[in-house]
Amino acid sequence: MSRRDAGERGGGGSGYALAEYAFRRPAEFDADDPPVHPVVVVGGGPAGLALAADLGLRGVPVVLLDQDASSGAWGTASRGIAHSKRTLEIFDRLGIAERVSQKGVTWNEGRIYDGFEDIYHFVIQPEKDQKWPAFYNLQQFYVEEYLAERIEQMGNVELRWQNRVVGASQDGDIVTLQVDTPIGQYHVRASWVVACDGANSSMQEYLGIETPMVLFEDYWAVTDVRADIGPLRSCTAWPTASSGATGRSSSWTPTRR
Ligand SMILES: Cc1cc2nc3c(=O)[nH]c(=O)nc-3n(C[C@H](O)[C@H](O)[C@H](O)COP(=O)(O)OP(=O)(O)OC[C@H]3O[C@@H](n4cnc5c(N)ncnc54)[C@H](O)[C@@H]3O)c2cc1C
Repeated sequence: MSRRDAGERGGGGSGYALAEYAFRRPAEFDADDPPVHPVVVVGGGPAGLALAADLGLRGVPVVLLDQDASSGAWGTASRGIAHSKRTLEIFDRLGIAERVSQKGVTWNEGRIYDGFEDIYHFVIQPEKDQKWPAFYNLQQFYVEEYLAERIEQMGNVELRWQNRVVGASQDGDIVTLQVDTPIGQYHVRASWVVACDGANSSMQEYLGIETPMVLFEDYWAVTDVRADIGPLRSCTAWPTASSGATGRSSSWTPTRR
Protein backbone atom coordinates (compact mmCIF):
# COMPACT_ATOMS: atom_id res chain seq x y z
CA MET A 1 0.00 0.00 0.00
CA SER A 2 1.26 3.46 -0.87
CA ARG A 3 -0.22 6.94 -0.53
CA ARG A 4 -1.10 9.66 -2.97
CA ASP A 5 -2.61 13.10 -2.50
CA ALA A 6 -6.24 12.97 -3.49
CA GLY A 7 -5.66 16.19 -5.47
CA GLU A 8 -3.48 14.30 -7.95
CA ARG A 9 -6.59 12.37 -8.92
CA GLY A 10 -8.46 15.43 -10.11
CA GLY A 11 -9.47 17.24 -6.95
CA GLY A 12 -6.74 19.86 -6.76
CA GLY A 13 -4.61 19.83 -3.62
CA SER A 14 -6.89 18.38 -0.97
CA GLY A 15 -4.08 17.48 1.41
CA TYR A 16 -5.66 14.07 1.94
CA ALA A 17 -3.24 11.21 1.40
CA LEU A 18 -5.45 8.40 0.15
CA ALA A 19 -4.33 4.78 0.37
CA GLU A 20 -3.36 3.33 -2.99
CA TYR A 21 -3.26 -0.42 -3.57
CA ALA A 22 -1.11 -2.28 -6.06
CA PHE A 23 -2.59 -4.25 -8.92
CA ARG A 24 -1.93 -7.98 -8.54
CA ARG A 25 -2.16 -10.39 -11.43
CA PRO A 26 -5.37 -12.44 -10.96
CA ALA A 27 -4.84 -16.23 -10.86
CA GLU A 28 -7.37 -16.66 -13.69
CA PHE A 29 -4.78 -15.38 -16.19
CA ASP A 30 -2.60 -18.45 -15.60
CA ALA A 31 -5.18 -21.14 -14.77
CA ASP A 32 -6.23 -23.76 -17.34
CA ASP A 33 -9.43 -24.47 -15.42
CA PRO A 34 -10.28 -21.33 -13.37
CA PRO A 35 -12.10 -22.01 -10.07
CA VAL A 36 -15.70 -21.17 -9.28
CA HIS A 37 -15.38 -18.82 -6.29
CA PRO A 38 -18.01 -19.16 -3.54
CA VAL A 39 -18.60 -15.38 -3.45
CA VAL A 40 -17.44 -12.48 -5.60
CA VAL A 41 -18.24 -8.98 -4.35
CA VAL A 42 -18.25 -6.20 -6.95
CA GLY A 43 -17.32 -2.82 -5.44
CA GLY A 44 -14.92 -1.82 -2.68
CA GLY A 45 -16.90 0.99 -1.08
CA PRO A 46 -18.20 0.73 2.49
CA ALA A 47 -20.88 -1.82 1.56
CA GLY A 48 -18.62 -4.18 -0.39
CA LEU A 49 -15.70 -3.99 2.05
CA ALA A 50 -17.92 -4.51 5.11
CA LEU A 51 -19.64 -7.49 3.49
CA ALA A 52 -16.33 -9.04 2.44
CA ALA A 53 -14.93 -8.56 5.95
CA ASP A 54 -18.03 -10.07 7.55
CA LEU A 55 -18.00 -13.10 5.24
CA GLY A 56 -14.26 -13.52 5.73
CA LEU A 57 -14.68 -13.56 9.50
CA ARG A 58 -17.33 -16.28 9.11
CA GLY A 59 -14.88 -18.39 7.12
CA VAL A 60 -16.34 -17.75 3.66
CA PRO A 61 -13.65 -17.11 1.03
CA VAL A 62 -14.35 -13.96 -0.98
CA VAL A 63 -12.91 -12.25 -4.04
CA LEU A 64 -13.65 -8.52 -4.13
CA LEU A 65 -13.29 -6.57 -7.39
CA ASP A 66 -12.97 -2.80 -7.48
CA GLN A 67 -12.33 -0.66 -10.54
CA ASP A 68 -10.26 1.83 -8.57
CA ALA A 69 -6.74 1.60 -7.09
CA SER A 70 -7.65 3.35 -3.89
CA SER A 71 -10.03 3.78 -1.04
CA GLY A 72 -11.94 7.04 -1.21
CA ALA A 73 -13.88 8.88 -3.83
CA TRP A 74 -12.32 10.56 -6.84
CA GLY A 75 -11.01 14.04 -6.22
CA THR A 76 -11.37 15.74 -2.88
CA ALA A 77 -14.92 14.77 -1.96
CA SER A 78 -15.20 13.31 1.54
CA ARG A 79 -18.61 11.75 0.94
CA GLY A 80 -19.84 9.97 4.08
CA ILE A 81 -19.02 11.91 7.26
CA ALA A 82 -21.66 11.32 9.93
CA HIS A 83 -22.46 7.75 10.89
CA SER A 84 -24.68 6.32 13.57
CA LYS A 85 -23.93 4.08 16.53
CA ARG A 86 -25.25 1.05 14.67
CA THR A 87 -22.34 1.39 12.25
CA LEU A 88 -19.89 1.29 15.17
CA GLU A 89 -21.63 -1.81 16.54
CA ILE A 90 -21.13 -3.53 13.19
CA PHE A 91 -17.53 -2.30 13.02
CA ASP A 92 -17.02 -3.69 16.52
CA ARG A 93 -17.85 -7.13 15.14
CA LEU A 94 -15.52 -6.54 12.18
CA GLY A 95 -12.70 -5.34 14.44
CA ILE A 96 -12.27 -1.68 13.41
CA ALA A 97 -14.67 0.19 15.75
CA GLU A 98 -12.00 1.28 18.23
CA ARG A 99 -9.78 2.62 15.47
CA VAL A 100 -12.68 4.46 13.79
CA SER A 101 -13.94 6.07 17.01
CA GLN A 102 -10.40 7.12 18.02
CA LYS A 103 -9.74 8.76 14.69
CA GLY A 104 -13.16 10.38 14.35
CA VAL A 105 -15.15 12.86 16.36
CA THR A 106 -17.82 11.18 18.45
CA TRP A 107 -20.94 12.99 19.64
CA ASN A 108 -24.27 12.58 21.42
CA GLU A 109 -26.03 15.92 21.13
CA GLY A 110 -26.68 18.69 18.63
CA ARG A 111 -28.38 22.04 18.24
CA ILE A 112 -30.45 23.68 15.52
CA TYR A 113 -30.29 27.46 15.18
CA ASP A 114 -32.60 29.93 13.49
CA GLY A 115 -30.26 32.82 12.94
CA PHE A 116 -28.56 33.11 16.34
CA GLU A 117 -31.51 31.68 18.24
CA ASP A 118 -31.04 28.19 19.61
CA ILE A 119 -34.41 26.69 18.67
CA TYR A 120 -33.77 23.00 19.28
CA HIS A 121 -31.33 21.08 21.44
CA PHE A 122 -31.36 17.33 21.12
CA VAL A 123 -29.60 14.59 23.02
CA ILE A 124 -29.69 11.45 20.94
CA GLN A 125 -28.41 9.07 23.55
CA PRO A 126 -29.16 10.27 27.12
CA GLU A 127 -28.33 6.86 28.61
CA LYS A 128 -24.99 6.73 30.40
CA ASP A 129 -22.38 3.97 30.25
CA GLN A 130 -23.05 3.00 26.65
CA LYS A 131 -20.20 1.31 24.86
CA TRP A 132 -20.49 3.55 21.81
CA PRO A 133 -21.65 7.16 21.32
CA ALA A 134 -24.73 8.01 19.27
CA PHE A 135 -22.71 9.25 16.30
CA TYR A 136 -19.21 9.59 14.96
CA ASN A 137 -17.89 11.85 12.24
CA LEU A 138 -15.08 10.54 10.08
CA GLN A 139 -14.31 10.80 6.40
CA GLN A 140 -15.45 7.75 4.51
CA PHE A 141 -12.05 7.06 2.95
CA TYR A 142 -10.53 6.42 6.37
CA VAL A 143 -13.24 3.86 7.10
CA GLU A 144 -12.66 2.17 3.74
CA GLU A 145 -8.91 2.08 4.39
CA TYR A 146 -9.36 0.52 7.85
CA LEU A 147 -11.72 -2.11 6.42
CA ALA A 148 -9.24 -2.93 3.63
CA GLU A 149 -6.40 -3.29 6.16
CA ARG A 150 -8.53 -5.50 8.37
CA ILE A 151 -9.40 -7.69 5.39
CA GLU A 152 -5.74 -8.06 4.42
CA GLN A 153 -5.14 -9.67 7.85
CA MET A 154 -7.77 -12.37 7.24
CA GLY A 155 -6.12 -14.37 4.50
CA ASN A 156 -9.35 -15.70 2.97
CA VAL A 157 -10.54 -12.48 1.25
CA GLU A 158 -8.72 -11.40 -1.88
CA LEU A 159 -8.92 -7.70 -2.76
CA ARG A 160 -8.44 -7.14 -6.47
CA TRP A 161 -7.94 -3.44 -7.17
CA GLN A 162 -8.08 -2.01 -10.71
CA ASN A 163 -10.46 -4.82 -11.68
CA ARG A 164 -13.44 -3.24 -13.43
CA VAL A 165 -16.43 -5.46 -14.19
CA VAL A 166 -17.61 -4.75 -17.72
CA GLY A 167 -20.05 -7.60 -18.23
CA ALA A 168 -22.01 -10.28 -16.37
CA SER A 169 -23.97 -13.37 -17.36
CA GLN A 170 -25.60 -16.26 -15.53
CA ASP A 171 -25.65 -19.88 -16.63
CA GLY A 172 -27.48 -22.15 -14.20
CA ASP A 173 -25.88 -21.76 -10.79
CA ILE A 174 -22.76 -19.99 -12.03
CA VAL A 175 -22.30 -16.28 -12.68
CA THR A 176 -19.49 -15.23 -15.01
CA LEU A 177 -18.09 -11.72 -14.85
CA GLN A 178 -16.01 -10.10 -17.54
CA VAL A 179 -13.30 -8.03 -15.90
CA ASP A 180 -11.08 -5.30 -17.35
CA THR A 181 -7.59 -4.84 -15.83
CA PRO A 182 -4.35 -2.99 -16.70
CA ILE A 183 -2.99 -6.22 -18.29
CA GLY A 184 -6.12 -7.14 -20.23
CA GLN A 185 -9.50 -8.78 -19.73
CA TYR A 186 -10.34 -12.06 -18.01
CA HIS A 187 -13.40 -13.96 -16.77
CA VAL A 188 -14.10 -14.79 -13.16
CA ARG A 189 -16.75 -17.32 -12.11
CA ALA A 190 -18.72 -17.45 -8.88
CA SER A 191 -21.60 -19.25 -7.17
CA TRP A 192 -22.74 -15.93 -5.72
CA VAL A 193 -22.07 -12.39 -6.93
CA VAL A 194 -23.00 -9.43 -4.76
CA ALA A 195 -23.39 -6.07 -6.50
CA CYS A 196 -21.99 -3.40 -4.17
CA ASP A 197 -21.02 -1.05 -6.97
CA GLY A 198 -22.87 1.99 -5.74
CA ALA A 199 -25.90 4.05 -6.64
CA ASN A 200 -25.14 4.03 -10.39
CA SER A 201 -24.59 0.28 -10.40
CA SER A 202 -23.56 -1.09 -13.77
CA MET A 203 -24.03 -4.62 -12.38
CA GLN A 204 -27.76 -4.02 -12.14
CA GLU A 205 -27.71 -2.90 -15.76
CA TYR A 206 -25.77 -6.01 -16.89
CA LEU A 207 -28.22 -8.28 -15.03
CA GLY A 208 -31.33 -6.35 -16.08
CA ILE A 209 -32.32 -5.47 -12.53
CA GLU A 210 -34.36 -2.30 -12.16
CA THR A 211 -34.24 -0.41 -8.88
CA PRO A 212 -37.03 2.02 -8.11
CA MET A 213 -35.42 5.44 -7.60
CA VAL A 214 -36.93 8.49 -5.95
CA LEU A 215 -35.45 11.92 -6.70
CA PHE A 216 -35.96 15.00 -4.57
CA GLU A 217 -34.56 18.51 -4.77
CA ASP A 218 -32.92 20.21 -1.84
CA TYR A 219 -30.17 22.76 -1.19
CA TRP A 220 -26.93 21.40 0.21
CA ALA A 221 -23.46 22.69 0.89
CA VAL A 222 -20.85 20.02 1.58
CA THR A 223 -17.57 21.60 2.58
CA ASP A 224 -14.15 20.22 3.47
CA VAL A 225 -12.23 22.62 5.70
CA ARG A 226 -8.55 22.31 6.57
CA ALA A 227 -7.76 23.99 9.89
CA ASP A 228 -5.07 23.64 12.50
CA ILE A 229 -7.25 24.15 15.57
CA GLY A 230 -6.38 21.26 17.85
CA PRO A 231 -8.94 18.80 19.15
CA LEU A 232 -12.43 19.80 18.02
CA ARG A 233 -14.90 20.24 20.89
CA SER A 234 -17.83 21.90 19.16
CA CYS A 235 -18.60 23.05 15.66
CA THR A 236 -21.27 25.35 14.26
CA ALA A 237 -21.95 26.29 10.65
CA TRP A 238 -23.69 29.64 10.14
CA PRO A 239 -25.27 30.03 6.76
CA THR A 240 -25.72 33.56 5.46
CA ALA A 241 -29.40 34.10 4.91
CA SER A 242 -30.22 35.95 1.70
CA SER A 243 -33.40 37.47 0.30
CA GLY A 244 -35.03 37.26 3.68
CA ALA A 245 -34.66 33.49 3.80
CA THR A 246 -34.29 31.89 7.19
CA GLY A 247 -30.80 30.62 7.85
CA ARG A 248 -30.62 27.26 9.59
CA SER A 249 -27.55 25.69 11.00
CA SER A 250 -26.65 22.87 13.28
CA SER A 251 -23.82 22.14 15.65
CA TRP A 252 -22.60 19.11 17.46
CA THR A 253 -20.73 18.61 20.67
CA PRO A 254 -18.19 15.81 20.56
CA THR A 255 -17.97 13.63 23.63
CA ARG A 256 -14.35 12.64 23.16
CA ARG A 257 -11.61 12.45 20.57
C1 LIG B 1 -21.47 14.36 -0.72
C2 LIG B 1 -21.90 13.11 0.00
C3 LIG B 1 -22.05 13.13 1.38
C4 LIG B 1 -22.46 11.98 2.06
N1 LIG B 1 -22.58 12.00 3.43
C5 LIG B 1 -22.93 10.89 4.11
C6 LIG B 1 -22.97 10.87 5.53
O1 LIG B 1 -22.67 11.88 6.19
N2 LIG B 1 -23.32 9.70 6.16
C7 LIG B 1 -23.62 8.57 5.44
O2 LIG B 1 -23.93 7.54 6.05
N3 LIG B 1 -23.57 8.56 4.09
C8 LIG B 1 -23.24 9.68 3.41
N4 LIG B 1 -23.17 9.67 2.04
C9 LIG B 1 -23.57 8.44 1.34
C10 LIG B 1 -22.43 7.44 1.29
O3 LIG B 1 -21.28 8.03 0.73
C11 LIG B 1 -22.91 6.24 0.43
O4 LIG B 1 -24.09 5.74 1.01
C12 LIG B 1 -21.87 5.15 0.37
O5 LIG B 1 -20.70 5.54 -0.31
C13 LIG B 1 -22.47 3.95 -0.36
O6 LIG B 1 -21.54 2.91 -0.25
P1 LIG B 1 -21.49 1.77 -1.32
O7 LIG B 1 -20.37 0.86 -0.93
O8 LIG B 1 -22.85 1.19 -1.52
O9 LIG B 1 -21.15 2.49 -2.73
P2 LIG B 1 -19.92 3.38 -3.15
O10 LIG B 1 -19.28 4.06 -2.00
O11 LIG B 1 -20.38 4.21 -4.30
O12 LIG B 1 -18.86 2.31 -3.67
C14 LIG B 1 -19.04 1.62 -4.88
C15 LIG B 1 -17.70 1.02 -5.26
O13 LIG B 1 -17.91 0.22 -6.41
C16 LIG B 1 -16.85 0.42 -7.31
N5 LIG B 1 -17.37 0.13 -8.64
C17 LIG B 1 -18.37 0.78 -9.30
N6 LIG B 1 -18.59 0.19 -10.48
C18 LIG B 1 -17.71 -0.85 -10.58
C19 LIG B 1 -17.46 -1.83 -11.57
N7 LIG B 1 -18.14 -1.87 -12.73
N8 LIG B 1 -16.48 -2.75 -11.35
C20 LIG B 1 -15.78 -2.74 -10.18
N9 LIG B 1 -15.99 -1.81 -9.19
C21 LIG B 1 -16.95 -0.89 -9.41
C22 LIG B 1 -16.41 1.86 -7.10
O14 LIG B 1 -15.05 2.07 -7.45
C23 LIG B 1 -16.64 2.05 -5.61
O15 LIG B 1 -15.45 1.77 -4.88
C24 LIG B 1 -22.75 10.80 1.34
C25 LIG B 1 -22.59 10.78 -0.06
C26 LIG B 1 -22.16 11.92 -0.73
C27 LIG B 1 -22.01 11.87 -2.23
